[in-house]
Amino acid sequence: MTHALDLRQIRKSFGPVDVIHGIDLAIGEGEFVVFVGPSGCGKSTLLRLIAGLDDPTSGDILLQGRRVNGVPASERGLSMVFQSYALYPHMSVRQNLSFGLENLRMPKAEIAQRIEAAAKMLQIDHLLARRPGQLSGGQRQRVAIGRAIVREPVIFLFDEPLSNLDAELRLQMRVEISDLHAKLGNTMIYVTHDQIEAMTMADRIVVLRGGRIEQIGAPLDLYNHPANKFVAGFIGAPQ
Ligand code: ADP
Ligand code: MG
Repeated sequence: MTHALDLRQIRKSFGPVDVIHGIDLAIGEGEFVVFVGPSGCGKSTLLRLIAGLDDPTSGDILLQGRRVNGVPASERGLSMVFQSYALYPHMSVRQNLSFGLENLRMPKAEIAQRIEAAAKMLQIDHLLARRPGQLSGGQRQRVAIGRAIVREPVIFLFDEPLSNLDAELRLQMRVEISDLHAKLGNTMIYVTHDQIEAMTMADRIVVLRGGRIEQIGAPLDLYNHPANKFVAGFIGAPQ
């Protein structure tokens, strides 16, 4: 079976500093995989390499079996959602949602239909005429997720999308993103440093430390059988 994503011996250096130290990872179609690890361990860097926003120093990236090293981000068929939302402040919500699709020269009727469906799903259909500055944090993050959905990506990439939200909203959005995965069935890669998000959302968790994979497994496997003290400290049962 072809994997949604294969990382083969991925290394990344910034000048003399090695940040990713040879990562091998295969992710199956439709899997919800969570990358966890402390700040600075290379989570965002790895996501950016997958997205095509940066290139690995060495190693291969395969999407559905096809090597995509050097293929620009816009041609990889992936959508990324950032912690900072990254919305265009001078555009309406509708324009934020349609912008990327217009660049793909998609017919107007198809764009309108996709926006309507995504806006309904995320309950932002009453906000389409507003600008990002007129929205709450949770509403902005919904728009950012909507912008990812309308592209109908083969893989969703989330980089700590809920970190800027308060605890109650984080819980609500966590459930909504899990529901979205159940509904759409897409492959999703979700970066967080929040153990609870990892435990509750993931099919599999990848624990990163210093640019290396410490352990991969289903949440309960990691919780009950952490490979070492680091993993135990991060997501294991109290010892
Ligand atoms: P995380 O997302 O896990 O917090 P990052 O992937 O952002 O970690 O960063 C991993 C390491 O790589 C950090 O030490 C960071 O300072 C370094 N780094 C990330 N991007 C760059 C860059 N463009 N230039 C130099 N160093 C970088
Ligand atoms: Mg990061």
